[in-house]
Amino acid sequence: HSVIVAIDGPSGTGKSSTSKAVAAKLGLSYLDTGAQYRAITWWMITNGIDVDDAAAVADAAGKPVIVSGTDPSHPTITVDGLDASGPIRTQEVTSKVSAVSAVPEVRTRITGLQRSIAAAAPHGIVVEGRDIGTTVLPDADLKIFLTASPEARAARRAGELKGADVSATREALIKRDAADSTRKTSPLAKADDAVEVDTTELTLQQVIECVVTLVEE
Ligand code: C5P
Repeated sequence: HSVIVAIDGPSGTGKSSTSKAVAAKLGLSYLDTGAQYRAITWWMITNGIDVDDAAAVADAAGKPVIVSGTDPSHPTITVDGLDASGPIRTQEVTSKVSAVSAVPEVRTRITGLQRSIAAAAPHGIVVEGRDIGTTVLPDADLKIFLTASPEARAARRAGELKGADVSATREALIKRDAADSTRKTSPLAKADDAVEVDTTELTLQQVIECVVTLVEE
């Protein structure tokens, strides 16, 4: 039968690398839900919508056409037909995504997309995010919650951003996680039945093996 794996946790825990590798190894589809929230944020910015105006964001939430490609070896995302994979990684989008994703109309819209993508995956899917195990796919076959110390998370993120200042990265990351954890609608949270994996002292390879073993059990 088709298997659904939910991988949640804050940023810098290795969620994306782990999720892609696990999906590739097991022949499953892959969905990066953070990329969808980033994509809708990018659309708001390019369409002149003030991301701090929740009513304006809510009004526009249904407008962008967001399409995610779910091949783990080549994930893609387009907005109104335009490739968004580069623009969604800018600092401007990163700093504004928490405000946009806190708007309930945005979450309803994006959650609907996520559920239909998961239902259409032929062999199953690995879905990574913040609220997958708690809200989007509460019946997932396996739920993983990845954690790591703030130092390890900041160091990994700064490494990805090549040359970024570690302490500034740490501040930005802590601020974003705090916003994501305290919003009213489906905040970043560990599901009661999720397996928590602390990745602070683990290599990426070890985390991947750990999750693959849990799926196969
Ligand atoms: O995973 P990534 O860092 O790309 O996520 C970007 C942002 O998207 C998060 O900081 C959060 O605000 C939002 N997000 C969310 N729910 C998810 C995934 C991401 O609110 N399931």
